[in-house]
Amino acid sequence: MTTKPDIMSMTLPELTELIKDMGESAFRAKQIFKWMHSGTPIEEMSNLPKSLRSRLAEETDYRLPQIEEKFVSKIDGTVKYLFSLKDGECVESVLMRYEHGNTLCVSSQAGCRMGCKFCASTLSGKVRDLTPSEILGQVALAARDSGERIGGIVMMGIGEPLDNYDNVIRFLRLVGDADGLGIGMRHISLSTCGVVPGIKRLADEGIPVTLSVSLHAYDDEKRREIMPIAKKYPIAELLSACRYYFDKTGRRVSFEYTLISGKNDTMEDAAGLAKLLKRGMGVPCHVNLIMLNEVDETGLRTVDRKSAARFADELNNLGQNATVRRRLGSDIDASCGQLRLRRNRAVEENSHR
Ligand code: SAH
Repeated sequence: MTTKPDIMSMTLPELTELIKDMGESAFRAKQIFKWMHSGTPIEEMSNLPKSLRSRLAEETDYRLPQIEEKFVSKIDGTVKYLFSLKDGECVESVLMRYEHGNTLCVSSQAGCRMGCKFCASTLSGKVRDLTPSEILGQVALAARDSGERIGGIVMMGIGEPLDNYDNVIRFLRLVGDADGLGIGMRHISLSTCGVVPGIKRLADEGIPVTLSVSLHAYDDEKRREIMPIAKKYPIAELLSACRYYFDKTGRRVSFEYTLISGKNDTMEDAAGLAKLLKRGMGVPCHVNLIMLNEVDETGLRTVDRKSAARFADELNNLGQNATVRRRLGSDIDASCGQLRLRRNRAVEENSHR
């Protein structure tokens, strides 16, 4: 049995070839491409003949996710989606509303195998990589559901994007396509726990997304305690890859630093971090401080708002640009990985009944 083509993962030229091979008119490809990128089910692709719609349904694999659950924050309008994929796997996306427009946080894998100690997404490991279509589908559906334009994307949902490299790159090219959503690479951030070879490869890709690197500690010993990836790539190597990224793309690198009470939140930590970035990067970079979203299973605690502000002040005083990330959707538990975890557990409990 041959597998059916995953049409939403195809570029327009690839789709055009497929449509021609099916004996259909080439111009249909562009129509289908536009429909898919706007999250439309096949039966609603109204300018296609019925016969073509049935052929698409039968002969291709259209991997548009479905909205399984949706939560809207009463405080700031943040929307959290739980999407289900064709095989029943679920992933999360969060639509955040800023003054300058809407940004969607997307997932790149079902689960994660990176094992960061504080993170909900990695608690039950990685099930599989998402296809380009399944990542793109999150954006297309959030735009369709909200009826609003999505101007920016952050790859900070479930999964490690550089552990699903080829699919993520293809997704980035697709989502930037002017015949589809046309989201510029300058409005996209990719967050990584620090996969050094992936960062170097990305630097040479010619797609200048903003690179965000999860640092969370200023020295290797401390970092290894909370992030297993640190055992593979020491901080010096990581920063040299970040510097390479900056040199190649001209894009300022951001560092994420999640504040965990009693782990990495002292003034010595702030001083160590400022010194490290000055020495290791030597060019302007930004630190995004994140207050830990507590995940029951980890036993780790967050810091209070005042301590986070003090940490940021200390960094700024030492000449290192830093801000505390605003917490959106606090009433809908918008931190990533927790919805998927809860749903998987519910499914599991049901199957044991
Ligand atoms: N795998 C990528 C992207 C996903 S996580 C990465 O590690 O960067 C996006 C960001 O949220 C990372 O900085 C991650 O360390 C952080 N994060 C994960 N769980 C968190 C939690 N419970 N509280 C606060 N930040 C968390």
